[in-house]
Amino acid sequence: MPVKIGIPRALLYYNYFPLWNGFFKALGIEVKVSSRTTKAVLDKGVKQAVDDACLPVKLFFGHVIDLRDSGVDFLFIPRMVSVERKAYICPKFLGLPDMVRHNIPDLPQIIDVTVNMSRNEKNLFKALAGAGKQLGKSGFAIRKAFKRGIEEQERFHRLNRLGFLPHESIEQMENGLLDQNFPPNLSREMTIALVGHGYNIYDQYISMNLIEKLRQMGVNVVTPDNLVDDLIEERSGELPKRMFWTLGKRMIGSAFHFMRSDHIDGIIHVASFGCGPDSFTGEIIERHLRRKRRVPLLNLTIDEHTGEAGVITRLEAFVDMIQWRRAAQ
Ligand code: SF4
Repeated sequence: MPVKIGIPRALLYYNYFPLWNGFFKALGIEVKVSSRTTKAVLDKGVKQAVDDACLPVKLFFGHVIDLRDSGVDFLFIPRMVSVERKAYICPKFLGLPDMVRHNIPDLPQIIDVTVNMSRNEKNLFKALAGAGKQLGKSGFAIRKAFKRGIEEQERFHRLNRLGFLPHESIEQMENGLLDQNFPPNLSREMTIALVGHGYNIYDQYISMNLIEKLRQMGVNVVTPDNLVDDLIEERSGELPKRMFWTLGKRMIGSAFHFMRSDHIDGIIHVASFGCGPDSFTGEIIERHLRRKRRVPLLNLTIDEHTGEAGVITRLEAFVDMIQWRRAAQ
């Protein structure tokens, strides 16, 4: 029986799953992803996580428990420090393997290699090579598997640039659908940019199916993942000081781009309750927009108690307001 490694469907799953999946599969390892988020998965995470953790971290705990109960041999929880030169991921990611290890009993072995590309981007290979070695694989097999992982990640980015959202791109890749399938959101009359962490906006349960709800209201949805990294970097350069925090920089850079694009009718900023960085990211976007006064903005903060009815009412009111605004112009 092949060795089975568990990857939680949470946090950076929406950014790096194709790389991790391609790498482990090429090593002959079976990859098991946790179930989709449900109330039960979230409740288990909330119960086990420390009270002051943000919602996405609590949810991550729920997905780890789901994998533990499914009987995987290993859990892949990399310690994500930095994914680009001279910029860092939120500190919560640094301590994630330790938080999980000390709060959830009876876990299988955790592979918690450190990814720190702040000084050298080759460190990504070093981290995955460390994971491959822990699984008893040879240097040759690891190099081949890494190449495969990178190819998968590049294909994922290409699909996102075509207009698919990351959860759709992953599904396309997993189910072997055609890359040419027309992206589902490019044919409607109104376009709204959804700016938030991938782990909030693409998780259907946590986001209360925000993307589908908007599409049902006749809205195209675009997100930072549809943009090329260089554009986001360039736009974030409008800040008086370079931002050293990758996730916030991506949100601010893409919001700055969307707010001056003729194709964007409104921006929704989705923040997590309990997230310090999100609160100042939202504030910067709001201030910038107020000065430009061009695109309407809706700020949505979600937590484990957010009611779906309230979110739908706010979305409907936002979409109606954009329509009235357009009619009046
Ligand atoms: S950026 Fe915010 S939501 Fe994301 S892990 Fe850090 S504290 Fe949590």
